Amino acid sequence: MTPEHTQVQGHATPGRIPPDRPLAPGGALPAEATGSAPCAAPDMAADWARAVAILTSAPEVCLACHIRPDGDALGSMLAVAHALRSRAGSAGQRIIASFGDQPFEIPKILRFLPGADLLSPPGSYPARPRVMVTFDAASADRLGMLEACAARADELIVLDHHASNTRFGTLHLIDPAAAATAVLAYDLIAALGIPITRDIAFGLYAGIVTDTGSFKYSTTSPRVHQIAAQLLATGIEPGAVALELWDRVPFGYLGMLSSVLDRAVLEPDGAAGHGLVWTTVSRADRAAFGLHYDVAESVIDVLRRAEEADVAVVFKESDDGQWMVSSRSKGKVDVGRACTRAGGGGHRSAAGFTARGTVEQAMAFLREYLADGAVSRR
Ligand code: AMP
Ligand code: MN
Ligand code: MN
Repeated sequence: MTPEHTQVQGHATPGRIPPDRPLAPGGALPAEATGSAPCAAPDMAADWARAVAILTSAPEVCLACHIRPDGDALGSMLAVAHALRSRAGSAGQRIIASFGDQPFEIPKILRFLPGADLLSPPGSYPARPRVMVTFDAASADRLGMLEACAARADELIVLDHHASNTRFGTLHLIDPAAAATAVLAYDLIAALGIPITRDIAFGLYAGIVTDTGSFKYSTTSPRVHQIAAQLLATGIEPGAVALELWDRVPFGYLGMLSSVLDRAVLEPDGAAGHGLVWTTVSRADRAAFGLHYDVAESVIDVLRRAEEADVAVVFKESDDGQWMVSSRSKGKVDVGRACTRAGGGGHRSAAGFTARGTVEQAMAFLREYLADGAVSRR
């Protein structure tokens, strides 16, 4: 436990990390702190208080994170599932947690997270949830098979940090300045007055390290480190988490990476003259080494290191032949805007979309969107 007991303004949970900016009663960030529309809300304190009231009294709470979940989506959801479950014993509250992928498969690198037993397939999800909470989903379509359930939910609490969030719920706990949805999940658990256990900490920590690139990205505030410190104090090991998330690949991955990087293209004039580097990971590339789709996710982390390019793009072909596109920016170009125009979404520095048509067709319009995607002066 931390020796110091900080107190969150508005509720008296000991040992919690206060926000970078003052918290409004109920654990919310003040509206002005969240910045620009469409996410700024006039009275988020009331929203946080309402979320606490709803989640405290509901006999059943249905949780859902975005499809093909990453560490932030699944980690945040499992953390809240564990938290509600740890309290539900006495309250008799039923907790359902899922994501709308068909087939329903937990990404391999996330299987170390405690709580796989708390998950159920989307086919058995309540068709009309009384109370539903979404995690890290910027729009309803990111819920896949669970989109229809969300549309019918009586209360739909949207917990997210995408500036592009479409506000598809009945209650929005959205902060684009948050480094990860996991930070907001931490705030929610704090607002509910539930102590952080080791199981809860695993999910929150996985979310934070995933979305901050292991504390590398500029969203990594002092508070992010303070929260991480509190999570580590529960006994989780950062080295073990990093090993599971990034440092364990089959030997064949190295061969696949070699061919994928060998065909990478650098377009120095691309992305409004800030440079574009891109490559593809096809089904055939993976099949040659017997690799699962999941391994394609980390290629972008290698590609983005090319200093001549502000923007890196990886096309990843799924087993059913769809091209999923990942993009990253070092800050000069808004890839979120470009990917939103391409039918996807994301953040200014990390975004994606599903390509319709061929790679060449998708690259043609993406080049155009990136060309006028330069970020105006901050
Ligand atoms: P990724 O490249 O998959 O790690 O995703 C980076 C960011 O883009 C994340 O914030 C995702 O939520 C978002 N994103 C990725 N793919 C899509 C998509 N098809 N539609 C909307 N947002 C996406
Ligand atoms: Mn995500
Ligand atoms: Mn996220």
